Amino acid sequence: MKPKESVCNGLVDGTFVSLLERQQLSSPSVIVIGGGISGIAAARSLFNASFKVLLLESRDRLGGRIHTDYSFGCPVDMGASWLHGVCNENSLAPLIRCLGLPLYRTSGDNSVLYDHDLESFVLFDVDGHQIPQQLVIEVGEIFKKILKETEKVRDEHSEDMSILQAISIVLDRHPHLRQEGLAHEVMQWYICRMEAWFAADADMISLKTWDQENVPSGGHGLMKQGYYPVIKALAKDIDICLNHRVKKIADCHSKVLVTVEDGRNFVADAAVITVPLGVLKANLIEFEPRLPQWKVDAISELGVGIENKIALCFDTVFWPNVELLGVVASTSYACGYFLNLHKATGHPVLVYMAAGRFAYDMEKLSDEATVNFAMLQLKKMLPEATEPECNRLKKRLSP
Ligand SMILES: Cc1cc2nc3c(=O)[nH]c(=O)nc-3n(C[C@H](O)[C@H](O)[C@H](O)COP(=O)(O)OP(=O)(O)OC[C@H]3O[C@@H](n4cnc5c(N)ncnc54)[C@H](O)[C@@H]3O)c2cc1C
Repeated sequence: MKPKESVCNGLVDGTFVSLLERQQLSSPSVIVIGGGISGIAAARSLFNASFKVLLLESRDRLGGRIHTDYSFGCPVDMGASWLHGVCNENSLAPLIRCLGLPLYRTSGDNSVLYDHDLESFVLFDVDGHQIPQQLVIEVGEIFKKILKETEKVRDEHSEDMSILQAISIVLDRHPHLRQEGLAHEVMQWYICRMEAWFAADADMISLKTWDQENVPSGGHGLMKQGYYPVIKALAKDIDICLNHRVKKIADCHSKVLVTVEDGRNFVADAAVITVPLGVLKANLIEFEPRLPQWKVDAISELGVGIENKIALCFDTVFWPNVELLGVVASTSYACGYFLNLHKATGHPVLVYMAAGRFAYDMEKLSDEATVNFAMLQLKKMLPEATEPECNRLKKRLSP
């Protein structure tokens, strides 16, 4: 007898019927851990495919590193704010279009990674003198040449090295590419921008892989109304528990047993873990059995970058109508820049962006000192800058 027929036969038997019915009625269950975009998107897909889904999030809000702040009376993204790759291959793009969320295009397909948010900008030196645009463009071209030359260094070395090391090798080989004085400071600013993309210092960025990222085509767009509506749409109808910090994930008789901070347990057929790498690196979740060694090694060897934002809201707009305002300095660490949200959204908000070691050091300051620092940077460029009406800080890439 074929297996199918055996099921048909079984249907005559009452016990078999109820077992089969139960199997059909209870679709597989999944616990999604983490309510950032990865967790919510995973939960949405599973929910749409008729899985029973429960999402556990440790914070009192959804979104994780997507966090739209409304306290200025307008949306300000304190985490992600760009859609990188405005094209259908980017699964977020059709959703954003469908939700009618407008994008402010900051650059097209031709932009390089460190250049994605920079179509119009002005740079100043620390004394508030605007740097001639011609010099900025020329140094930008030289920087591109230097990066092109680093490809040769990459080909010559089987071992990886930092992009900073490779730049230094290129400059030794081609001293005419080395910049002096103001041009050197502008070069440092370009390095600072590159560091911002990777949220890491140039001596931590891999020569082998820095340009291997596959960013979808279509250029880059800033979410004018913030990213939160995307989170809200994806989370619709999903069973979500906020303030549920997962402490332990255990394999239990072919099920997954998830324990949260207050000791409560949740059981499902499977779990999808979307907590940030930093949480895994810090061993904040216990796994039973322990994760395989190759996974533990991968977690420990991968780095986590830091990028922070300081948003300042002003009464009036006293700055030039460009997308970015930058201050150059003799080291990339001391360079900085503000994103001008007024150009993109019409709201009088400047967002100071800090990345890498500088962002790490900034985290040691009090909120007040951080805002003072950002204002000092602004006043270097624009001495007439007024004090902000209010401010917001985002101080951690990974919770
Ligand atoms: C300042 C900044 C600017 C950025 N700009 C951009 C941009 O413009 N464009 C772009 O594409 N990307 C940008 N990014 C990166 C982007 O924000 C992240 O890649 C993305 O949001 C990560 O989503 P995720 O769901 O993987 O992780 P997360 O958003 O970190 O979500 C993980 C979730 O897990 C939760 N969690 C942690 N531990 C536990 C636990 N034990 N139990 C339960 N829940 C837990 C966290 O609270 C969090 O909500 C930026 C990031 C930052 C910080």
